[in-house]
Amino acid sequence: MQAIRSKDTKPEWTVRRCLHRHGFRYRLHDRKLPGRPDIVLKKYGLVVFVHGCFWHGHDTCRISKLPKSNRAFWLEKITANQKRDSRNVFLLEKLGWKVWKIYECELRTAADRAQSLGRLLCFLHQRHKAEYGTAAEAPERYEAVAEELPNYGKS
Ligand SMILES: [Zn+2]
Repeated sequence: MQAIRSKDTKPEWTVRRCLHRHGFRYRLHDRKLPGRPDIVLKKYGLVVFVHGCFWHGHDTCRISKLPKSNRAFWLEKITANQKRDSRNVFLLEKLGWKVWKIYECELRTAADRAQSLGRLLCFLHQRHKAEYGTAAEAPERYEAVAEELPNYGKS
């Protein structure tokens, strides 16, 4: 069972550090927005949720499984979380935000991180280009995400 932590979990920190290193600035846990998104990139109209696989019921997950005991209890709890999550996405999209979800299993290995964070950076660079006509940074910087992390390609 994963520990119960709602803020400043390691996966969230990984995403924040990556964004920061690539020059993107953000706000954290904006209370005024539905679901208090973990990371808010206002300039890009993007909110990011970094979800723990277990609590948010990541359905195509490789790492999260329901405990064998009290299954009904957990199922009900997680289903309620999922419902709340989709409601928040609905509300945020209605307000014009693009909602980006990253699950903890997508940040597990260096290869996972290179892929999931690379996708996010790519999206942000495209938005920047669409908005301002110039790339935020040279594209080769995407690779830095992978290079700076250990064991890339070995796991
Ligand atoms: Zn997962």
